[in-house]
Amino acid sequence: MRIAIVGAGVAGAIMARGLAQLPGLDVTCLERVAPDDQAEAGTGLNIGPNAVGALSRVDAELANAITAAALPWDTWRVTLTDGTELMNIRMRDVAPSAGWRLRWSELYRVLRQGADGLIRYGADITDMGPTGDGSGRTFLRWTDATGAHALDDIDLLIGVDGRFSKVRQRFAGDAKARQVGVAIFRTLLADTSEGVINDYEQWFNRDNRLLGFRVPPDHIYISGTFPISVGGDITDAHKAREALREAYTPSDGTLSEQGQWLVEAVCNPTTNLHWARLQESEVRIFEPDSDVLYLGDSSHGMVPTLGQGATQAIEGSCTALMVIRDLVAAGNFDPREWLGAVSDARAARIRFVMNFSLEASDTLLAGSDPVAGTLKKTEPAFQSKLKQLYHDFDATWPLQGQERAAQ
Ligand SMILES: Cc1cc2nc3c(=O)[nH]c(=O)nc-3n(C[C@H](O)[C@H](O)[C@H](O)COP(=O)(O)OP(=O)(O)OC[C@H]3O[C@@H](n4cnc5c(N)ncnc54)[C@H](O)[C@@H]3O)c2cc1C
Repeated sequence: MRIAIVGAGVAGAIMARGLAQLPGLDVTCLERVAPDDQAEAGTGLNIGPNAVGALSRVDAELANAITAAALPWDTWRVTLTDGTELMNIRMRDVAPSAGWRLRWSELYRVLRQGADGLIRYGADITDMGPTGDGSGRTFLRWTDATGAHALDDIDLLIGVDGRFSKVRQRFAGDAKARQVGVAIFRTLLADTSEGVINDYEQWFNRDNRLLGFRVPPDHIYISGTFPISVGGDITDAHKAREALREAYTPSDGTLSEQGQWLVEAVCNPTTNLHWARLQESEVRIFEPDSDVLYLGDSSHGMVPTLGQGATQAIEGSCTALMVIRDLVAAGNFDPREWLGAVSDARAARIRFVMNFSLEASDTLLAGSDPVAGTLKKTEPAFQSKLKQLYHDFDATWPLQGQERAAQ
């Protein structure tokens, strides 16, 4: 059975490694960038315990390799920028394990090393589509440093080429995006905080929020948000360093030691800020007429509030691998059935994660009260959803080995 994977990012590298270990599958994975080019990945990631749990169950060796490159995400603290504490969650109280904190480029390095020899780098896709014979099969054309290449009669095409997915655009048109009305900037800096910034924290001044944490080897990741009009642009006036200083400084000027370090770091003119708007896109798991599967950002762009983007790319890939492993073990090599089974396992879960991420963004919206909004997150209703988020990563996995035999 011929499988082609477009994109060797978070989901693509995990899928390439996992599928190549199964019998009867011929796996080709195409990646646009060169092997050591992680230019798009100059940032830090906090990855939820649900991804740690899912990957540990599906591929413990790969999970251990990420753990070795990461720091544990043990706590989630929320304060005002003047230092007033609003919430301090220990991850072990809401999750089966800690999460991970690491640089995005490190995650790519570890995952791509895990798929060593399976990825064709520097691939520029020139054409793709259905074979046109009604079989559901697809084809790919691409060029790389060695020339032009073709792959015909692909039984399963996995489009994991990120949030601007060419595969999804080719088979389903542009994904509709929904703007939330929040601007976000991100930066990765050398750690000069001398221990002031460590595990995952958020700091509010009115509806403006900073977020930061330390990542190996010696860096601090900072992200900041503030409201803008829904669908509006982020203007130069929004980006001006003095406007940012004003946004995160309390009206009486009293910043905590952490607040002071963060505001100075963000407002330093040499700090390179990367800008985006919070948005989510419609979910699409597979194509109805062609055997094409989407995972990660190509399937579901989500707001980053709960750190579930890469987390869901990992969790979703693990679910897909469990489903496919189970079907292969039962001798089922029908890609239509694989797609239906992955969709059954993922659809409700991803809807829950996206809705919950949006719900948790309430304190980022214009005019929101961070004190009332954060205190609500300490109440049983929110805490119970958080436990569901972090624990239920395998609730819909197919039955395994002995469990299946016992049925
Ligand atoms: C600044 C920033 C901070 C973030 N912080 C967090 C966080 O803290 N926690 C979290 O969980 N998530 C976070 N995310 C989201 C997370 O990074 C993404 O959700 C995750 O990388 C999605 O994984 P993916 O495999 O779907 O796509 P990607 O990791 O984006 O991988 C897509 C791959 O496809 C390749 N590609 C693209 N087009 C083509 C093509 N035409 N042909 C071949 N290859 C192609 C790309 O080069 C890339 O390697 C953040 C995102 C950003 C931008």
